Amino acid sequence: MTYVRKTVGVLALQGDFREHREMLEALGQDVVEVRKAAQLGALDALIIPGGESTTIARLIISNGFQQPLRDFCASGRPVWGTCAGAILLACEVDNLDRPGIETMDIAIRRNAFGRQVDSFEAALRFEGVPGEPFRAVFIRAPLIERVYGRARAICTLDDGTIVAARQDNLLATSFHPELTGDERIHQYFLAMAGEGA
Ligand code: GLN
Repeated sequence: MTYVRKTVGVLALQGDFREHREMLEALGQDVVEVRKAAQLGALDALIIPGGESTTIARLIISNGFQQPLRDFCASGRPVWGTCAGAILLACEVDNLDRPGIETMDIAIRRNAFGRQVDSFEAALRFEGVPGEPFRAVFIRAPLIERVYGRARAICTLDDGTIVAARQDNLLATSFHPELTGDERIHQYFLAMAGEGA
């Protein structure tokens, strides 16, 4: 599948933004590491990476990103949060000491799989991604306890635990597709960028 070349930003305040960058570049996209809110205007889509959600939330506030990111989400351009990024998109989060972007109708629980299960992998079906199950990597991952309003679940573990949700132009995954060689979720996201074109 080929995609129209887009300019995709990766929020680069903290976390694994380089891995997203590399995967997007492998897919032929122009990638911008976003460190200033003024860079948002030129983007067709934005990824908020995994990392430490309390740290990223603090840096979002101290770098003047909170309202610009809310406006970006409201603009209809695609935004994808992976792991800590998903936490920052959620309207309801347990145990985050300051507000994130609070734009998706999901309730999310941080570090939900417990200390004993720091990281794990699972082969999952992801709605809209055909072919083999996707090998998803979870690292101190959150789980999506509830979707409501405009959000809907698009990927679950075998026991029904929600690990990805979609709401119009917004995507949240509690796992890290940028850490496997499988580009299909990034392709899914780029197709979202094409929907609005
Ligand atoms: N546990 C982290 C948090 O709560 C998220 C981990 C990750 O992004 N891999 O922010």
